[in-house]
Amino acid sequence: MASPTEMISEDEARTQIVHAVRTLPSRRITLSQALDCFAAQDYFARLPLPGFNNSAMDGYAVVASSCKRDGRLRVIGDQPAGPDRKLRVSGGEAVRIFTGAPLPEGADAIVMQEDVTRHGTDISVNVDVEAGEFIRRRGCDLTEGQLILARGERIRAATLPLLASQGLANVNVGGQPTAAVISTGDELMKSGEKLQPGQIYDSNSVLLNALLQRCRVSETAVEHSPDDRQSLNDAIKRGMKNHVLIVSGGVSVGEHDLVKESLRELGAKIEIWRVAVKPGKPFLFGWFESETVDSKGQMPGLHQCFVFGLPGNPVSAFVTFLQFVRPAILRMMGATNHDLRQVRAKLAVGLTNDSDRPHYIRGRLERGKFMPTGRQESHALFGLSQANGFVRVVAGQSLKAEELVDVQIWE
Ligand code: AMP
Ligand code: MG
Repeated sequence: MASPTEMISEDEARTQIVHAVRTLPSRRITLSQALDCFAAQDYFARLPLPGFNNSAMDGYAVVASSCKRDGRLRVIGDQPAGPDRKLRVSGGEAVRIFTGAPLPEGADAIVMQEDVTRHGTDISVNVDVEAGEFIRRRGCDLTEGQLILARGERIRAATLPLLASQGLANVNVGGQPTAAVISTGDELMKSGEKLQPGQIYDSNSVLLNALLQRCRVSETAVEHSPDDRQSLNDAIKRGMKNHVLIVSGGVSVGEHDLVKESLRELGAKIEIWRVAVKPGKPFLFGWFESETVDSKGQMPGLHQCFVFGLPGNPVSAFVTFLQFVRPAILRMMGATNHDLRQVRAKLAVGLTNDSDRPHYIRGRLERGKFMPTGRQESHALFGLSQANGFVRVVAGQSLKAEELVDVQIWE
């Protein structure tokens, strides 16, 4: 761990964190529960898509070579979407057909119903017809054995219909962590309580709970602790039963910053304290380990609770959550990619960082332009509320207006 005056780099911190945490055991869940979970194995197509040659239109299945403009074809039957009626089309014939219906044998094209005139049991075709038209061929979208979802990939809304098309009802995904949040500070009051001079409402409880929900953490216990050792120890003991414990505030160097000492006293291994990042320097990371047994007193195991101490200023808590806690949670859930989405954009104004740490500037990315929002100080909530992304400006760097930068997007 860095000495009180030292800081480790963000990259080092992230690497240590991601290496320390373990992917939780996988579980089998239904597709309807799987949105935003991460696949715990590779999935391959077991059915081609489409599964059989079928019509892309409502119309008539025909033999292309027997269609003459304004020539007549006899309609010999109809084939709706559903069971294959095993109809056979020959030259001079047509089968009335509907979107998704299996292609009758002998047919090699579909004529749209808009291009046909019906005369009782006959039709005349008003266009030229080419073989293959409006037919969806078996396997043209997906072939059997093709990779459809890789281990560690996020299951998105658009992944689910593909899995469903394979007849899958369940999917194996990475485990889902539980978390506890302790918001520390004698100055903090809950909404509904009357503020006395010097007091403020607690912003971080709701912030961290929301960010955890975004990561799809299954349950979060949120509590407040005043800045006294006993209350803090008790709250930490409750919180350490989870996979993740986030303590907000009290990780800096003041006499009322008790978190590090409490964690130590309770047996935590503290691996990181102070990271070169602005805002968020006093960030802390460590873990508790305890041996476990099952309900019959057997099956010895190890419970690990990873602890993140985030600075109390809400913007610092926000930045350090996204830069360090989120990657850890994603790894626990089995994700391979732990990065925020990045978009290239032009700066609307110049940005300078004359501090000794990379500065995460909050701002709004809109139509390819990034504009900082509000005050860039760690307590400044309004600017954060207007922002949707960060630009990371390294120490000593000056970026000019119109310069191209990477914006990390969180929405
Ligand atoms: P600390 O990290 O405990 O030294 O707190 C740094 C600053 O963040 C102080 O101005 C605190 O009042 C403020 N702060 C701490 N926790 C919260 C919170 N939960 N909501 C809003 N502000 C907070
Ligand atoms: Mg405090």
